[in-house]
Amino acid sequence: MQKISPAIRRFAPGEEVDYLIVGVGSAGGVLLQRLARAGFRVIGLEAGPFWDTEKDWYSDEIGAQRLYWQDLRITGGTDPLALGANNSGKGVGGGSVHWAAFTPRLHPSDFRVHSLDGVAVDWPMRYEDLKPYYELLELEMPVSGPAWFPWGDPHGYAYGPHPLGEVGNVLVRGCTRLGIRVCAGGPVAINAGSHDDRPHCIYRGFCIQGCKVGAKASTLITHVPDALRSGAEIRDYSMASRIALGPNNRVDGVFYFDRDGREQFQKARAVIVCGYAIETPRLLLNSACPEYPMGLANSSDTVGRYLMAQAGNVILGRFPGLVRMYKAPPAHALTEEFYETDPKRDFARGFAIQTVGPLPIAFGKQIMAAMGAWGWGLRRVMMDYNHWCALALLGEILPWHSNRVTLAKERDQFGIPVAYAHFNLYDNDKKMIKFGREKVMEVMSAAGAEQVVQEQRYAHLVGAARMGSDPATSVVDKFGRTHDIANLFICDGSVMPTQGSANPGLTIQALAARTADYLITQGENVFRSDHRDLTEPTPRVELSPPGTFRKGIPRPGTGWIFRRRALQAKA
Ligand SMILES: Cc1cc2nc3c(=O)[nH]c(=O)nc-3n(C[C@H](O)[C@H](O)[C@H](O)COP(=O)(O)OP(=O)(O)OC[C@H]3O[C@@H](n4cnc5c(N)ncnc54)[C@H](O)[C@@H]3O)c2cc1C
Ligand code: SF4
Repeated sequence: MQKISPAIRRFAPGEEVDYLIVGVGSAGGVLLQRLARAGFRVIGLEAGPFWDTEKDWYSDEIGAQRLYWQDLRITGGTDPLALGANNSGKGVGGGSVHWAAFTPRLHPSDFRVHSLDGVAVDWPMRYEDLKPYYELLELEMPVSGPAWFPWGDPHGYAYGPHPLGEVGNVLVRGCTRLGIRVCAGGPVAINAGSHDDRPHCIYRGFCIQGCKVGAKASTLITHVPDALRSGAEIRDYSMASRIALGPNNRVDGVFYFDRDGREQFQKARAVIVCGYAIETPRLLLNSACPEYPMGLANSSDTVGRYLMAQAGNVILGRFPGLVRMYKAPPAHALTEEFYETDPKRDFARGFAIQTVGPLPIAFGKQIMAAMGAWGWGLRRVMMDYNHWCALALLGEILPWHSNRVTLAKERDQFGIPVAYAHFNLYDNDKKMIKFGREKVMEVMSAAGAEQVVQEQRYAHLVGAARMGSDPATSVVDKFGRTHDIANLFICDGSVMPTQGSANPGLTIQALAARTADYLITQGENVFRSDHRDLTEPTPRVELSPPGTFRKGIPRPGTGWIFRRRALQAKA
C-alpha cells in the first residue's frame, strides 16, 4: 500500500497559526486537508499516534485493540452505553481507521424529522445543502456500491459493487424470500478494484482492525497525505486539555500535553474541535473559565446533551452449511426498507438491516452475551464459528435532553477529568428496537437459519454539541460555528441534531468538507469579525485530494464523474 509519511512541516514554538484543529479523525482529517490546500496555516493536534500502517497494523483481533480510545470513560443511566474498546478511535485517522466503512447517506427526511414526524428536531440545513458533499466524498474515498440505491434520495455509485460473501447472501436470501428490497455490494468505502496507488480488497475481513492492505478508506490514507503535502502540521501524542479564552470574547489557542507529558500552549486565530461525540463535550466542559463557568460554548446548557447512539443489536444465526464470516468485508449488503416512519407501526422513524462479520473473539463475546454460554458450552459454539452468520440492526434512537455527557470526578493520566455519559432509552426507542430485532430475526430464519439468537448493543455515538438556528437550544450554527464565540468551531459527529439509521461516517466527512468551504469563503472575516454570514458556500471540487478524479475505471453511464473531472481541470 502507499507509504504515509508523518509530519513534514513544523511550525516554530510560539508561532500563531490560522486554524488549530483538535482531533485528526474522520472530520478533522478532511478539514485539515481542505484548509491546508486552500493555503491556511493549520495544525492538527492528535491525542494518539501517527500510525505507520506497515509496522503498527496487523491482522490480529487483540493487536487491533490499540486503535481504540481505551482511556477511562464512565457510564451510567438506566441503559448505559459501553464506552471504551470498540467505540472510538485514538490516532491519526480516528474512527475511520477501525470503521467498517459502510457509507450510506442520510435520507432527506432526516433533516426534517420534527416537521415530518413530530419528534426530535429539524436540522438548520437541508439534505440538498449536503448532497454535493456526499457526491464529492463518495469519489474521494472512493465508495463502491450498486448502480442504483433506491432509498432516501435514490442515486447510483460511480464505482462498482463488491461480490457478496455468504453473510451478504444470507441477507439477500432472507429479504428476497420475505419480499423486502435489499442492496448488495455496498455502499462501502473499500476498493472493489485498485485505484491509483491503493490496491483492491482481498476479502479477508480484517477491516475493523485497520486494513493493512490499504483497500479500505480512512482519512489517514485518503486526506492526511495531501494535508501534509499542502503544508499542514500534525502533532501526534498531543492531548488537548483546555481551550483558552483570550480578549474580546475570542479563543486564542489550546493547552495540550505533548508526547513527553509536558504541558504546552499553541496559539491560533481560530480553533476547531473535532474530538468525537464524547471527547468534544469533555474538552468544552473542561475549558470552563470565569467568563463561561459552565464550559465554553455552553451558555445554553446544551453542551453534552442530546447524546445519541444507534441501536446496534447483533442477530446471530446458525446454518447447516458453511458461512465463514471472515471471508468478506463486514460491510457489504443492507436494506433501508424500514428506515422511514411507517404510520402502521407504533413508533416514529426506523432502522436499517446490515451485514456484519465478527471475527472469532468478537463472535465469542456476542455468543456469551446472547446465549449466556461459558466454559465448554462456549467452546462448543465457537468450534462451529464457520457455520454462524451475523446481521445487525441499525436503529435510530432519538435525541433526548437527559442523555448527556458531563464531567466525572475521576481523572485520566494527565489529571484531566474524564467524561461521564448518562444514557436512558425511552418509549419510542424501545418499541423501535423490539420491532427491528424481531424483523432481523425473521430475515435470518427466512434465509434458513436453524437457530437464531441476539445480543443487545449500541453502535455509533453522535450528538452532544448539536447544531441549530436557536442559540438557546443548540451549541453551533449550521456551519459549526459556536453561537457563543465567533472563532470557536466544532466539526465532528457531535454536531448532528439527529442521526437517522445510516452509519454516520460519510455524513461527518461531508459536513467537514462543507464547513471547510464555508471557512475558506469567509476568509479573514472568521479571524477579524463577529459577523455571521450564513450564505451556503459553493462546493469546491478543486480542493479534492489530487487523483480523486483519476481513480480506477468508473462505471459506464456515470457521466457526472467526467463533468467533475472537467470542472477540476478548469479550476
Ligand atoms: C467498530 C466500529 C465500526 C464502525 N463502522 C462504521 C461504518 O461502517 N460506517 C460509519 O459510517 N461509521 C462507522 N463507525 C463510526 C465512525 O467510526 C465514527 O462515527 C466516526 O469516526 C466519528 O468521527 P469523528 O470525527 O466524530 O471522531 P473520530 O473519528 O473518533 O476522531 C476524533 C479524533 O480526535 C482525537 N481526540 C479526541 N480528543 C482529543 C483531545 N482532547 N486532544 C487531541 N485529540 C483528541 C481522537 O484521538 C480521534 O483521533 C464505526 C465505529 C466503530 C467503533
Ligand atoms: S477485507 Fe478488504 S477492506 Fe477489509 S481488511 Fe481485508 S483487504 Fe482491507
